[in-house]
Amino acid sequence: MSRVLNRAYGNPSSLYDHGRSSAAILEKARMQVADAINALPLDIIFTGCATESNNAVLKSMLNHSQPRRNKIISTPIEHPSVLKTLEYLKSHGMVIEFCPVDREGRVCLAELEKLVDAQTCLICCMLANNEIGTIQPIEAIVKIARKHEVLVFSDCVPAFGKMPVDVHALGIDYASFSAHKLYGPKGVGALYVKHGCPFTPLLHGGHQEEGLRAGTESLHNIAGFGAACEEIGALLRDGERIRGLKRQLVQRLKQIKPDCVINSPERDSLPNTLSVTFPNVNNSGLMAALDFRGIAVSAGSACSSQAETPSHVLKAIGVSDQSARETIRISLGHRTSARDIRYALRVIQSFFQSRVQPINMITPVRMDETILFDPHNYILDIRPQFMRRKVKSLPNSHEASFASIERYLHQFPRDKHIIVVCQQGYHATMAAYYLRSKGFGQVSILLSGAEGWQASRNDLYLKFAGQNITALQQKR
Ligand code: PLP
Repeated sequence: MSRVLNRAYGNPSSLYDHGRSSAAILEKARMQVADAINALPLDIIFTGCATESNNAVLKSMLNHSQPRRNKIISTPIEHPSVLKTLEYLKSHGMVIEFCPVDREGRVCLAELEKLVDAQTCLICCMLANNEIGTIQPIEAIVKIARKHEVLVFSDCVPAFGKMPVDVHALGIDYASFSAHKLYGPKGVGALYVKHGCPFTPLLHGGHQEEGLRAGTESLHNIAGFGAACEEIGALLRDGERIRGLKRQLVQRLKQIKPDCVINSPERDSLPNTLSVTFPNVNNSGLMAALDFRGIAVSAGSACSSQAETPSHVLKAIGVSDQSARETIRISLGHRTSARDIRYALRVIQSFFQSRVQPINMITPVRMDETILFDPHNYILDIRPQFMRRKVKSLPNSHEASFASIERYLHQFPRDKHIIVVCQQGYHATMAAYYLRSKGFGQVSILLSGAEGWQASRNDLYLKFAGQNITALQQKR
């Protein structure tokens, strides 16, 4: 990638020598990606990300299917870039139906058979799930689709690099990929469109990508994507080692916390993804405790972590909202060692041995004038600006950004009771544990956040919200 940035500045569409050598880099990367998934290079379109790839395929259906074949069947555990696009298509007259999944997140084939009919244009089902790792029976899904001449699109993003992906053997018509899932750069994706399948560009303009995706190509990212694909064999060979580490992790977690529930299936699942519920343990506290010891785990997917709502994937497999809030996702990687696993287990064990005091929570109902206007309290609003536009801040709030909270630390008073507020209470817990680790003695959070307060104390919200707000400046 740095060689491309330093030496291949030419635009691949230019006819002169600089342009031609950039075009050669582009075409090499296309071959590398195509080889990694057993596709023809001609069937690969480079995109800005897998979200774009997903949007492009699904929105294509608007043009190719109406009015007779206007139904798409998908699953409730797809990525938001699929689910939100389907919502959009529904608002534009398409019929969207969801095939249920079982307790392990696997598509119920018998239900799918019932849903597919002459009105269906597309079945959209991810190859493996990003939160729980379940691998779908795509070949069986394709068989059902073919009986009705229905196209099949699979989001292969989480599967790529974790299991072999052979678009030809799977028999799918469209597939989406993202480079960062295989240690490539962020901000570049690919789309496989089988020759002859209907497709309308999402972006119109220049003739790049055979006229199927206009816009100057991000050449260094694409070259990085191609180079990452060269490593796919090594990544796949490492899969069994990673699966072994995951097994050890599960065994030890069950010893440390015998009531924990493993949501990832044992069979037919990605080697690296583990979703685990710890009953009666709020996941944000655990995540924060792990974060401060250098262990990065998440609650759902990175793309929905801003939403603060319980994971839709866990809900779809029958996990309650409460249990979803007690669930973390641990992803192992190519560089995860047995030592890392032992370290993580030690940290988790010490968390459960209650060496970490829980954070005090103030319910929104209790958040009245006595707390709001007590000069000993310091209300810290860590929401991003767009959320503050949706729900106004509590009176006397001090606004700071969660993402760079360490740059505000010097301004927070050490002699006051800090009440951290976010939109729904989730990020506030992370921030509160962080503040405590930095020596702030009295820290609480507002349970259910600004939204919860607006809903339960609407009288106070209407009277005081947005008053006397201080926007803190971060240290450069
Ligand atoms: N689909 C799935 C299943 C994902 O996990 C992700 C992101 O991680 C995406 C799509 C979106 O990929 P991108 O971030 O490249 O848009």
